[in-house]
Amino acid sequence: MSLAGKKDLGEGRALYQIKILEDNYTYVLARDREAFVVDPGDGKPVLALLEEKKLTLKNILITHYHRDHTGGNECLKQKTGCVVIGPEDERIPGLQQTIGDKEELIFAPFFLEVISTPGHTKPHVIYFLRDLHLLFSGDLLFSGGCGRLFEGTPEQMWHSLEKVLILPENTEIYCGHDYTLKNLQFALAIEPNNEAIQHRLETVKNLIAEGRSTIPSTLAIEKKTNPFLRVSDPKLQQALGVSDTDPITIFTHIRKCRDEI
Ligand SMILES: [Zn+2]
Repeated sequence: MSLAGKKDLGEGRALYQIKILEDNYTYVLARDREAFVVDPGDGKPVLALLEEKKLTLKNILITHYHRDHTGGNECLKQKTGCVVIGPEDERIPGLQQTIGDKEELIFAPFFLEVISTPGHTKPHVIYFLRDLHLLFSGDLLFSGGCGRLFEGTPEQMWHSLEKVLILPENTEIYCGHDYTLKNLQFALAIEPNNEAIQHRLETVKNLIAEGRSTIPSTLAIEKKTNPFLRVSDPKLQQALGVSDTDPITIFTHIRKCRDEI
């Protein structure tokens, strides 16, 4: 089990970040002796953490059906008797409870707002803990980038990202994959004079050299360095040399360029 980080949330609460598979992250929220896992692409490292920290798994929270986010569902359900929660999608293994947009999951003292964010897949949800300003963004929003459009349109994806843009700037973003380095290299390639991206790229290279995680990011950082959140910014539009300033047109253009790398 590769523990990439632990954040003490106070009052007996903690957030564990586990690196799994190639470049995925799965997250475990703990309160006293109980735990909730987000997107367990692999069950074994989660079981190892539960064992090590003496935690009992209560629920699995799924953002979308992809195997690298749900591969541990059946194993964890079988070994712990936990309940699998996610968006309505028969492709999610072991799904027992479905949730939808604007619903709230109450695992006091954790309160999770569910936000529907189709685009990468249809459906896809993200989980926001407003009081702790934590966001589990699945494969909607990455550090420096966003998910590919497997089942949705650019318009859907942009509207989903707009739902993140209105969250508080200090929101910490815990995403499903660590593509930060490649994402920032791409961001700098399309906007070479952006000093925030230049600076962040150096910071991220240092973190990687020290064997540290580049996750989480914050919404404030993403707004300055993530091209997919900055499609309305005149500086980005100028760098791209586009005359059409419609955000969906620019989003579509950038997504296509990123896909071709
Ligand atoms: Zn995915």
